[in-house]
Amino acid sequence: MISEVTYGDKTFEVFISQEEIQVILNRLAGEINDAYADISEPIVLISILDGSFIFMADLVRKLSVPIEIQFVKLKSYEDMTSRGEVAHLLKLQTSLTGKHVLVVEDIIDTGLTLEVFSEELKKQNPLTIKICTLLSKPEVHNDIIDIDFVGKEIGPEFVIGYGLDIDEAARQLPHIYRLKIG
Ligand code: 5GP
Repeated sequence: MISEVTYGDKTFEVFISQEEIQVILNRLAGEINDAYADISEPIVLISILDGSFIFMADLVRKLSVPIEIQFVKLKSYEDMTSRGEVAHLLKLQTSLTGKHVLVVEDIIDTGLTLEVFSEELKKQNPLTIKICTLLSKPEVHNDIIDIDFVGKEIGPEFVIGYGLDIDEAARQLPHIYRLKIG
């Protein structure tokens, strides 16, 4: 295992190994399969790009419930003038009316992106909206949104790998790394 990686002047150490990610994936898939066990129509899984592409690909191969897959690309703004806005760089290609929707996110930090996106989804009158995230930072978002399926709660630290980037690099790392302090 490569225990440390460096990008620019920043060094990262292994935080969640490939093996631990597999354990998390198996548990999450089990929870999702159980939650939708009585539903016969496909669940619409919406993956928020770019960071969640690896998580989504691994997760769906462990699901036994019928699903459809959609991808969106969002950009949230947090400055004072435009707080609460999410730009859609890639839009949904299907109607969600009357569907069960499961949003698949890589990491929830402030929760702003999902808070705004969930409100937009509600306008399409889906039957249900649930949220699944691989990682969650509760100390940052303070539970402003309900998260139905959480892979792992982490502190307010910056992580990379397994889809998560640093300036578009590091997405291909098989483990999740965190910024090394000191
Ligand atoms: P939020 O709207 O919840 O503050 O931000 C969510 C998005 O910010 C995530 O989908 C991800 O793209 C990015 N993000 C938040 N925390 C991290 C982190 O620790 N590492 C990386 N690489 N991206 C993060």
